[in-house]
Amino acid sequence: MELRKDPITSSWVVVGHREDTCETSGGCPFCPPKVDAKPVLLRLPAQGPWQVAVIPHPDPLYRVEGDPNRRADGIFDMMRPVGADEIVIETPDHERKFEDLSEDQILRVTEAWAERIQDLKRDLRFKYVSVFKNYGALAGQDGSHAHSEVTATIFVPRRILYELRAAREWYREKERCVFCDIVKQEERQGKRIVDTQGEYVALCPYASRVPYEIWVMDRKHSYLFEVPRPGANRRHLAVLLQRVLRRLRQVAPAYHLVVHTSPNTNHPKGEVSSYWKTIMDDYHWHIEILPIVETRSKSYSIKEVYFNALMPEEAAERLRQLDPKS
Ligand SMILES: [Zn+2]
Ligand SMILES: [Zn+2]
Ligand SMILES: [Zn+2]
Repeated sequence: MELRKDPITSSWVVVGHREDTCETSGGCPFCPPKVDAKPVLLRLPAQGPWQVAVIPHPDPLYRVEGDPNRRADGIFDMMRPVGADEIVIETPDHERKFEDLSEDQILRVTEAWAERIQDLKRDLRFKYVSVFKNYGALAGQDGSHAHSEVTATIFVPRRILYELRAAREWYREKERCVFCDIVKQEERQGKRIVDTQGEYVALCPYASRVPYEIWVMDRKHSYLFEVPRPGANRRHLAVLLQRVLRRLRQVAPAYHLVVHTSPNTNHPKGEVSSYWKTIMDDYHWHIEILPIVETRSKSYSIKEVYFNALMPEEAAERLRQLDPKS
């Protein structure tokens, strides 16, 4: 496996073959007997039987050991896929789906995400830590046991770079956070809001890329997902996530969920590099949920422009009307 840089778009691509890992003959690798036999990176709660466990990915895309050995290949750039790849097992119960977990348990999963991001950011080689969840066969979920993935990379993924640059530009012009501006306007207008709980808001973004795209955001400004801002009540976030995903499953069989947080701004000398000087004020963590509905793939795969056949206002309206408990 290697990382290759597209010289035109500057994005890094992982190239190589990866095995399908889960549901091997020895039984589910994410069920308690298998997990308890191996060292875990994190277990919650710390005492007693685990409710959430984090283990190294059995067949990682990125590996912690070694040097990236960044080098030229003729005019091209490549490096070894140094990084971390971890599995967050969201419940010991093989049958339970994420959105059917209790509020306490969903809260625990979000705590595990936060703890792993913080820990991986201590490694100054890692420029970005991603948390994502592929749910359903159409989203490429491995095995059926509920889990999410945490990866740390020595580059910032392209979509995040776009966001960071746009947010910095907005801030430079207006001295305001673009995400705070979005939430304010969306709440004033109301037509794309799906649900709210405490300070957390779920909405269909104005330029939704796919039908029923949803962003879950904090109404109050904070750039780090992994460090809750003072006064934040993460239980509200867990409750909102649960309700939103229960609405969503009635219209989409699969989704990708991605946590977007600030890149690693830890610096060897303890300072923030000049590139990220305003990041605390200009970036704002959020969770993006990209459902997969059958109609999507055709138009999406051919062109590089998203075509979404469902108006976001209509999507939000439908989602609002669905039962968040079913
Ligand atoms: Zn299992
Ligand atoms: Zn903000
Ligand atoms: Zn984002």
